[in-house]
Order: sequence, then C-alpha cells, then structure tokens
Amino acid sequence: MRLILLGAPGAGKGTQAERISEKLGIPTISTGNILREAIKNGTQTGLKAKAFMDQGLLVPDDVIIGIVSERLDQEDCRGGYILDGMPRTIPQAQALEDTGIRIDSVISIEIDDAIIEPRMTGRRVCSGCGSSYHISANPPKNEGVCDVCGGPLVIRRDDTPETVRHRLEVFHQETEALKGFYQKLGKLRLIEGNQPIEDVTRDIMTALGV
Ligand code: ADP
Ligand code: ZN
Repeated sequence: MRLILLGAPGAGKGTQAERISEKLGIPTISTGNILREAIKNGTQTGLKAKAFMDQGLLVPDDVIIGIVSERLDQEDCRGGYILDGMPRTIPQAQALEDTGIRIDSVISIEIDDAIIEPRMTGRRVCSGCGSSYHISANPPKNEGVCDVCGGPLVIRRDDTPETVRHRLEVFHQETEALKGFYQKLGKLRLIEGNQPIEDVTRDIMTALGV
C-alpha cells in the first residue's frame, strides 16, 4: 500500500500517519521530520532548508525530490509507505509519477482554516522521533515527554501564529491544487478532518477498504 496524505498544516497528517503506519505495518516518510532532523544535525540539506522553513515557505522542489527518492529506495519501503508532507507542489507530484512509482491512494484531510490556529499553537512534537501531540486534544501520558521514545516535547519553530498564517497561504496557493491532480488520476479520497482523532483514523481505514 502506497499512500499520500494531503491537507493543510495542522490538518492532522502527522497524527494520522502514525496511526495508519502502526495499523498497516508500513513506514511513514515525513519530509518535515526528515528536514527537522537534518537541521538539528547541521547537514548541508538542513542548512539549505532552514531559512525556507523558518519563514513558512516551501523548501525547493529539487531538495525535496532528492530526499524522498533516496528514502524510498531503502529496504523498509518495499512493502509500501505513507508519504506525509510530500508532494506539496504539482512539480513534486509529477516527479513522483515520472519515477514510475504507483501510488494507490491519496487521502486529503479536509479542515477549515479557522480550526487550524488553535491546533498549531497547542501542538507539541517530540524532538527525538517527531511524534505529534496536542496539549488538550492529544496530550502525552507525562507532560513534556514523548509516549513513544521518552524524548522531550518541543514547540516547532514554524508554529508561531504568524508563520502558521503564512504556511496556510502557501497551502492554498500551491498545495491545494494537488487535489485536482490526483482527482484526475482517480486516486483522491476526501476525509472530514474536523472530528476526534480516532474518528478520522476510522474514516481513513474505511476509505482504504482495510
Ligand atoms: P499536520 O501533520 O497535518 O501538520 P498534526 O498531525 O501535527 O498536523 O496535527 C496538528 C495538531 O493538531 C497536533 O497538535 C495534533 O495533536 C492536533 N490534532 C491532530 N488531529 C486532530 C483532531 N482530529 N482533533 C483535534 N486535534 C488534532
Ligand atoms: Zn518520541
């Protein structure tokens, strides 16, 4: 099963990716997490990406395509995977198609802009493994500590209200058009994102027929 998760920042892609990944036993490829890790480690890619991410801008297509194609070549991706945060532009989607990768389903998590800000300001992410939490909707068992790996939870640098607004604009300008792209290929499934986390997961599993 090869899946793409689409949706505005804060729609719940990371949260759902974790759950589906566990249920289906396939890895999640999160370009956001890969880039944040690269920034933390001070790699060449990280240095390139940081300035864009801090401003709420998209990292250039060639950087993203490079990262993802390298990652998808690894052994654990043979049985399928979930792409979270890629593609974000039509050229990225086209690049995926051009490599001959057959995507089975594209899940678009639908959510109104008005709901996004409180989600983002309450988001906490694990600096160890990238798991996503929310201070009220999905709190960790112990405050400030990741349930999965015990790492410290932090606020993402790009989750300030101003950057969130900017990322939302970029989403509407560049990423939303992907729905049309995958609709034409007959792969798009729309899922209501404004409901409790477990209900969103259930709807996704139903849409996938699993
Ligand atoms: P994305 O990966 O799409 O940017 P996340 O999965 O990180 O979004 O979710 C953004 C924030 O909203 C997180 O704090 C997450 O815990 C919370 N969240 C995710 N799904 C829901 C939901 N269905 N209801 C309420 N809060 C949610
Ligand atoms: Zn963790």
